Amino acid sequence: PPYGQSPPWYPSPKGGIASTWADSYAKAAKMVSKMTLAEKVNVTTGTGWQMGLAVGTNGPAVNVGFPQLQLQDGPLGIRFADNITAFPAGITVGATWNRQLMYARGKAHAIEAREKGVNVLLGPCVGPLGRMPAGGRNWEGFGADPYLQGVAGAETTRGIQSEGVMATIKHFVANEQEHFRQPWEWGLPHAVSSNIDDRTLHELYAWPFGDAVKAGVASVMCSYNQVNNSYSCGNSKLLNGILKDELGFQGFVMSDWLAQRGGVSTALAGLDMTMPGDGLRWANGESLWGPELSKSVLNGSVPVERLNDMVTRIVAAWYQLGQDDETKFPRTRPNFSSWTDDKMGVLSPGSPSKQEEVEVNQFKNVQANHSIIARQVAAEGTVLLKNEGPLLPLTPHGFTESMLKLRRNVLARAADRAANTGKLKVGIFGEDAGPGKGPNYCKDRGCNEGTLGSGWGSGAVEFPYLVTPLEALRDKFDSSKVELHEYITDGPLLDKSSEQNVLSSLELCIVFANADSGEGFAKWADVAGDRPNIDLQKGGVRLIQQVSAKCGPEGTSDVIVVIHSVGPVLMEQWIELPNVKAVLLANLPGEESGNALADILFGETNPSGHLPYTIGKSLDDYGPGAKIMYTPNGVVPQQDFKEGLYIDYRYFDKYSVEPRFEFGFGMSYTVFGYSNLRVDEVKPKSRLPAPRPSPAAEPPSYETAVPDIEEVLAPEGFDKYKLEKYIYPYVKSADEVGLIDSKYPYPEGYNAKQPLSQAGGAEGGNPDLWEVYVTVKVDVENTGLKDGAVVPQLYMSYPDSNEVDFPVRVLRGFDKVFLKKGEKKTVEFGLTRRDLSYWDVEEQNWVMVTEGDAKYKFGVGGSSRDAAVEGVW
Ligand code: BGC
Ligand code: BGC
Repeated sequence: PPYGQSPPWYPSPKGGIASTWADSYAKAAKMVSKMTLAEKVNVTTGTGWQMGLAVGTNGPAVNVGFPQLQLQDGPLGIRFADNITAFPAGITVGATWNRQLMYARGKAHAIEAREKGVNVLLGPCVGPLGRMPAGGRNWEGFGADPYLQGVAGAETTRGIQSEGVMATIKHFVANEQEHFRQPWEWGLPHAVSSNIDDRTLHELYAWPFGDAVKAGVASVMCSYNQVNNSYSCGNSKLLNGILKDELGFQGFVMSDWLAQRGGVSTALAGLDMTMPGDGLRWANGESLWGPELSKSVLNGSVPVERLNDMVTRIVAAWYQLGQDDETKFPRTRPNFSSWTDDKMGVLSPGSPSKQEEVEVNQFKNVQANHSIIARQVAAEGTVLLKNEGPLLPLTPHGFTESMLKLRRNVLARAADRAANTGKLKVGIFGEDAGPGKGPNYCKDRGCNEGTLGSGWGSGAVEFPYLVTPLEALRDKFDSSKVELHEYITDGPLLDKSSEQNVLSSLELCIVFANADSGEGFAKWADVAGDRPNIDLQKGGVRLIQQVSAKCGPEGTSDVIVVIHSVGPVLMEQWIELPNVKAVLLANLPGEESGNALADILFGETNPSGHLPYTIGKSLDDYGPGAKIMYTPNGVVPQQDFKEGLYIDYRYFDKYSVEPRFEFGFGMSYTVFGYSNLRVDEVKPKSRLPAPRPSPAAEPPSYETAVPDIEEVLAPEGFDKYKLEKYIYPYVKSADEVGLIDSKYPYPEGYNAKQPLSQAGGAEGGNPDLWEVYVTVKVDVENTGLKDGAVVPQLYMSYPDSNEVDFPVRVLRGFDKVFLKKGEKKTVEFGLTRRDLSYWDVEEQNWVMVTEGDAKYKFGVGGSSRDAAVEGVW
């Protein structure tokens, strides 16, 4: 197809071909075969915005025992709920580079979901990928690299689903900016189109979704935006072609909230569930499915087969997670309400109809000991960017040997200063250190207030508590030895001489600054979802500069800078100031913020976080494709992803741009050495994967006759008890259905049955793509003076080729290994066929480079620009 156009891909592949889901499909087939048309439609359609206690609820199939599913945000905790854990955000998880922690956080999250009565978690998020550093929702995901996103998304999915809760991988795909993501927030008739070429779509944006599918994810949420000028939730190439055929996805596709923009067309394109049920506008009680889907099936516009597949996928996912076990998932509503904090309330606050009040909030505490995981993720997700001296870690009394020496100098030079109490004086600066007006001051965290623990939007939660850095530091510094001076404001430091005297007597300054962003439905200051730039906010740069200039006599005392941020921030105006000795990027740490920071500052946890994105010296340095489109360039804004594969470090590497801190960078309080890289072939190279296997199972087959209209006529007396605006599946009469010849004209290309993809054939795609072809082993040794965890990263360079353009290097392996001082361990990376391949557009398959005697190159080290040891294959 021409650039920016999406080709047709029909008919929608049926679920039930994978061995991994065979039992669930068999059970689902039995249940679905007994459902009436009304019940089937119910299962596919949300009951409307605020018609249940969760953010999304579909209709039940009462007579066969299929309950309403309760769907709740989001990727870092249970949204709109009490007594839950506010975990660190995705970007912090990515910065840990710790697979076990990724899994553990997912698992803890899911335990909380289940105990609150949630069937489906609306996370993890791996899209946006992070094409644009200022993208409003990048922080919900794990970092600007498909491999890192893929591993983190898959581990999180496995963790969540190990507790029987369905995970939803979102947003499929290329919702890279908030501006114009959908029409109504931005006053446009249509959403932005992310125009992506086939190879880039495969190697970057769809890649992490492949990992989640391979991990068995139950649900995929399609995004608001268009991809190649076709709405994601109605894009047959994306849903039918890539997701269901090529990746062999066996679960169900759910729309983002109101991302469904057509009725019959989306059903044919592969959408299985519409959320929240209302159609083109919020809470208007009109659905594109519901009764409309009933009619479309009755008049032949939507084949019965397609409806059966939609329902079977949803029911199979429910069985697959063991949710039919009533001891684990009681078939009642959630025990909390998203819409009120009161104990009593109505079940469908979205309806104007009069309703009885019932107990909607039981205030069940589900936190268990999950604060431990939250704290560990926050600490391990803190990246040490600079540590001269080394200034850090501080000792229990606040000072290192080098500082004590410094202090003696300072004392000598400032012998005459006023009010010398004999204690060490430490200054703490910045609103970001303190509580502000409280962590839940703005709805959905839609402002930058106090210390930054998460970004805003549906991906945020109500903090049950938030340990501020200030609290933790007060607690940690020994008050008999340290005198704290607190300037918890972003206002300029006063020039009053009394204040000047205190500032010049300080021996250590810790200054906090941040940058926030979030989902496009909320705006704070000039941050309309996406950031307007990648600067520190609230005067952070000025504050750091002033603290640097005024800390100690003539600004000679040491300064530690702590940044909380949703993504990269520019550091050029202060990073090289001589007394800025240490810099910590604490990302978005969640409820345990202060404790985790203290763990790092005082060395109880040796820093092991690494950057999940590049920190450039200017926004321009990321390339033209990295700019948000803030002004629409047409009625349907067109975002051309013309940079192709070259985003983040792939761009910096290709165009030899010097970053401030490269992707993967992060320091430790100890030192690691790499040696002895070995490359072992497991299987010989070959250009193409094995042929697509034949399906391991057959999708269920049902009667395909159009059902009788009786199955969807509203029951007797329905008008008396129906709720206004609530979405029901019923039609009033045969007249409403229309004649069979009014059938919807199928989209162009509908009847040209697509050939099945050679890259497909099982859950996650052709199994050969997941086979390990080569292993790389490296010895890693802790050669420093402290115990600590190392993150060996493997970057691969494709063989030189005359035909194909490749990035300089791509991440293809990482691990986190704890090493006592002096200890040495071997780490092993297995590279799969997919890891070693590129997407060949002509071939429409993953291809390994076997040309001539060109070799794959592997480099392992502590960042993307630190290949400490190298090898070839
Ligand atoms: C967001 C989704 C979220 C949904 C439900 C949408 O606005 O884009 O990520 O899951 O709302 O709250
Ligand atoms: C609502 C949010 C909701 C979002 C979609 C907004 O209009 O205020 O609560 O989550 O839309 O997720």
